[in-house]
Amino acid sequence: MKPPSPNRYRTHWAGELRAGDVGAAVRVAGWVHRRRDHGGLIFVDVRDRTGLLQLVFRPEEAPDPHARAGDLRAEDVITASGELVRREEGTVNPDLPTGEVELVVCELEQLADARTPPFQVDEDEPVGEELRLRYRYLDLRKERMKDNVILRHDVVKAIRDHLSEEGFLEIETPIMTRSTPEGARDFLVPSRLVRGSWYALPQSPQLFKQLLMISGFERYFQIARCFRDEDFRADRQPEFTQLDMEMAFVEEEDVIETVDRLLQRVLAVGGVEVTLPLERLTYDQAILRYGSDRPDRRIGVEIVDLSDVFEGSDFKVFGGAIESGGVVRALKAGGDWPRSRFDALTSRAQELGAKGLAWAVVGDGRWRSPIAKFLSDKEIGGATARLGAREGEAVLIVADEPGVAARVLGGLRADVAEDARRGHDVFWVVDFPMFEWNEEEGRWDPLHHPFTAPTGDLEADPGEWRSRAYDVIFDGWELGGGSIRISTPEVQQKVFDALGIGPDEARERFGFLLDALTYGAPPHGGIAFGIDRMVALLAGAGSIRDVIPFPKTASGIDPLTGAPTPADPRQLKELGVRVEEAPATPRNDRW
Ligand code: ASP
Repeated sequence: MKPPSPNRYRTHWAGELRAGDVGAAVRVAGWVHRRRDHGGLIFVDVRDRTGLLQLVFRPEEAPDPHARAGDLRAEDVITASGELVRREEGTVNPDLPTGEVELVVCELEQLADARTPPFQVDEDEPVGEELRLRYRYLDLRKERMKDNVILRHDVVKAIRDHLSEEGFLEIETPIMTRSTPEGARDFLVPSRLVRGSWYALPQSPQLFKQLLMISGFERYFQIARCFRDEDFRADRQPEFTQLDMEMAFVEEEDVIETVDRLLQRVLAVGGVEVTLPLERLTYDQAILRYGSDRPDRRIGVEIVDLSDVFEGSDFKVFGGAIESGGVVRALKAGGDWPRSRFDALTSRAQELGAKGLAWAVVGDGRWRSPIAKFLSDKEIGGATARLGAREGEAVLIVADEPGVAARVLGGLRADVAEDARRGHDVFWVVDFPMFEWNEEEGRWDPLHHPFTAPTGDLEADPGEWRSRAYDVIFDGWELGGGSIRISTPEVQQKVFDALGIGPDEARERFGFLLDALTYGAPPHGGIAFGIDRMVALLAGAGSIRDVIPFPKTASGIDPLTGAPTPADPRQLKELGVRVEEAPATPRNDRW
């Protein structure tokens, strides 16, 4: 870091002093990290943002600071000055960047007292999340957390530098706006001046970035805060940060190449080197081979389709499934497991939605399996060969609808993976279907969002439409997703129609977009990345909450400030808002 301008508190950063500074008169400031009394001598590690420095208090040379050092407690705030000396041989600490030197203190001033912290800052011992978040300012003093916040800065800076060099402009879009749907509920803000009307917080800047392309800005980006009111979903936050981008006069290839270069630069900040171009997998391949459109390919096990092997099989579970439009797919895994392991995998498969799980252990020509007696030698030989299974290996088979088979076997891949997941895997998934059927609601939902350009025969059933969307997957997480957009009002209405949003409703909710599309909308497309997830993956953090300085708990509560809190009745009156006792019925219609 650039050296501090010397002032009454410090002349140097504590963590940056080295052997070359020996002999200098040094003043440092920070928090008492640890204190050790060694008969006569007192050692204090002082901590600032840059790291730790050992202070030494000698009773004979500086009796007064020495006496006061004896009263210092962890997390007290101090400033101390003296001479920087080389540590005596045998006391050098090779684990500490400042481990060759120490400051012999001749002056000590205590700037603030600290109460005993509710957990220790100098150790990374497990502490309950509620407590960590309640005292987040102490939690952030931990080295690991501090490093995460710094990494986040470095990542965002690399993004800004790179995109600025490539001609992108950073442009802000409103936080108080009208619904920008991405498939979640909106957070609403009541308007005081227009009684009974509400702003929505953006689920993403999607519509504004499209408008910016219509305005002619060509290349836009934003480090954008987004808000989505979702029911509990693992490791999600109601507000989160996206790198949001959009480009005009582009096709898929242009966006993908631009993002490839960006990711290479940004991931390198976290020590992840990728070679370009990033690999691309189609959605259909991903589902077939991994049972997921965001697979962790570091798990070596792949799904194999055996439908042709078992077509017409006398074993009705397989033959019948194929006859009624289903599939028979399998995983080859592990070794000769005990029966209990197969029972556990069967329960897991059922949890994932399978009716059952067939399993076998490959023997010499035959299978050891409860279903072996129902299968012909030809079927067993064909399946063994297709799977490339060797004697002693286990085979897990699901016969079901293609979607169920993919989901179940995709889920089981992680359960049977025996190798540690090493390294990183970053790739694209392309060529998505436009919609997926929402069984519960009995309607089509977009796989991305309703502003994604569809392709294929738009007169056909919406289930047949494909989309011009692309996702980036990082170690089994969807890191980013985007698409080429719809740029005519006619196609936009066609997609709305497929979603059950008729022309009147479309005009009411998205009239401004439909209008803008009539004033010369260039072809355009873009993408957005989850910055929280990106930093968490690079930091090796278990949760995005570890890379967000002030996150909320999984239930959307901030234990630090207590938010959300009831509003003052006077405030509510001014807003014309009354709170009912029972919660209002949530809106079902998401789009
Ligand atoms: N708006 C999309 C999202 O938030 C990203 C995009 O299509 O650019 O996921």
